[in-house]
Amino acid sequence: MTISEGRWVSPFDIEDSTSYSNYLPVEGLTALARESFDIVVVGGGGAGAVAAIEAADRGASVLIVEAMASPGGNTQISGGTIRLVADAPMAVEHLMHLAQGATPRAVMEAFITGLVEIEGWIDAHGGSLEIRPEKVDDSHDRVFPISRPGSSFPNYPGGDALGRRALVPPRREGRHNGAALWDLLAENLERLKIPLVLNARVSRLSTDEHRRVNGVEITTNEGPIHIAANRGVILTCGGFAYDDALMTQYYGLPLPSVCLPARATGDGVRLAADVGADLWHMNAAACSVGYRLPGLEAGIQAKMPDYGFVLVDQNSRRYLSETDLENHSAIFAMTAQDSITGEYLRTPSFVIFDEQTRRAGTLAHLPHGANRHYPWSADNSVEIDRGWIQRAETLDELAGLLGLGEAALTSCVSEFNQSFDQQVTDRFGRSLNAMRSINQPPFYGAAVYPIIVNTQGGPRRDEACRILRPDGTPISGLFGAGELGSLWNRLYAGAGNLSECLVSGRLAAKSALTN
Ligand SMILES: Cc1cc2nc3c(=O)[nH]c(=O)nc-3n(C[C@H](O)[C@H](O)[C@H](O)COP(=O)(O)OP(=O)(O)OC[C@H]3O[C@@H](n4cnc5c(N)ncnc54)[C@H](O)[C@@H]3O)c2cc1C
Repeated sequence: MTISEGRWVSPFDIEDSTSYSNYLPVEGLTALARESFDIVVVGGGGAGAVAAIEAADRGASVLIVEAMASPGGNTQISGGTIRLVADAPMAVEHLMHLAQGATPRAVMEAFITGLVEIEGWIDAHGGSLEIRPEKVDDSHDRVFPISRPGSSFPNYPGGDALGRRALVPPRREGRHNGAALWDLLAENLERLKIPLVLNARVSRLSTDEHRRVNGVEITTNEGPIHIAANRGVILTCGGFAYDDALMTQYYGLPLPSVCLPARATGDGVRLAADVGADLWHMNAAACSVGYRLPGLEAGIQAKMPDYGFVLVDQNSRRYLSETDLENHSAIFAMTAQDSITGEYLRTPSFVIFDEQTRRAGTLAHLPHGANRHYPWSADNSVEIDRGWIQRAETLDELAGLLGLGEAALTSCVSEFNQSFDQQVTDRFGRSLNAMRSINQPPFYGAAVYPIIVNTQGGPRRDEACRILRPDGTPISGLFGAGELGSLWNRLYAGAGNLSECLVSGRLAAKSALTN
């Protein structure tokens, strides 16, 4: 019986789920249909695992249903950073500024309260957290886009109240970042003997005559199978970066993503909408800068290792101070439409650089993401040979290869060089310390896109992670956690989604069992 075949596996991906023994073969589903559970969790990623662990810790019977052939979701391939709290009341104030009116205070308060407890929860579940060493922005590891040590938006009050970023240390050789976090969660699923059924895509939520959600339906080749959930269904299906229709509807155009394609399909949005859920934060995303590459469904995050570069639009115009662009906020600058023509002249944009920058290091940021095992060459030569990066002896020739106007590109680079040579700050305010003339041939250029790290939208939920209708009343029996219907609106502080997986997973399970 085949329920749902994985649609895509990255050639560079080696997801590891071998250490877990509670997997139920898909054939076991028919037997499961005769059983019922207190809680059914839809989605076997980080938030789903936390919800299931919390439910089991509270004595409930719980089943996780995962669409793909291995669990872990995008959590397993993520950066793994979790935010600590330095000053809880001020952290709430900061989040209220970032939400810009689109998330109620009660939700932010519940999040920060839960986040304060997270280190203790991790500790009680056999793990630990260690502070991530902050990178120094001018370390030449990555000068674009930058990662700020604190909140991505320190201009709003309370940015310091969000604490440092922390990581679960590796529990197995070579398993860092999100993989280490996932391993800790998987060990607890194993310890608690929580069943997890794989290759099982939930296609519908079932409701009783009072519109209470009472189970899930899984489509199989032999017809639908219903699994009952007596206390509640928790949706933790992740995001929708690969659903072109949702992307076009809410962001204006489909964008590449660093997520695992078959895991960010937007199922959760449709499942919840189908039973009357309100949606929120649908045009919010954590968004970096990256490459869309032939033959790879997932993109690769771009980085510049040296200051001799500019970012230009399709008319060869610079449009920002490149070295101030924050790693999660590229969507604002790069999806702006031209107000006269309506065109997306910055999607793609182009990075233009010279030989010194090319030699300074890799032009890709690959510690995590769907293609994290792609062996990008240290001097970028392989990617140049592949045609992903164009090379030319002159800027005019480079403009031709990239489809840009020759004169416009040359004059843009000359203006940039002149600012640096004369030590006059340019009109975008780029620091002179973060500039270098682009003057050492050959010259290079590559198309770069706003690249989705994760979407934030989905069913609206309250402070107890109950999924709400448009009139604000909870849909009985339905709860949500994680990236699907996240509390984050368009301004994202960084390291906030995994924190939310941990906090909201716990809250959703607690609510389901006490409602
Ligand atoms: C490269 C990268 C780096 C990141 N770094 C960080 C970071 O450092 N800090 C941070 O806070 N955030 C980070 N994020 C974001 C964060 O990792 C995600 O938001 C988070 O992992 C989402 O967890 P989740 O449990 O909600 O979803 P996921 O972990 O994606 O799990 C969802 C699961 O649901 C399954 N599913 C979907 N539909 C169905 C269905 N119909 N039936 C059954 N199963 C279904 C999917 O297959 C998937 O396995 C990063 C993301 C990426 C991609």
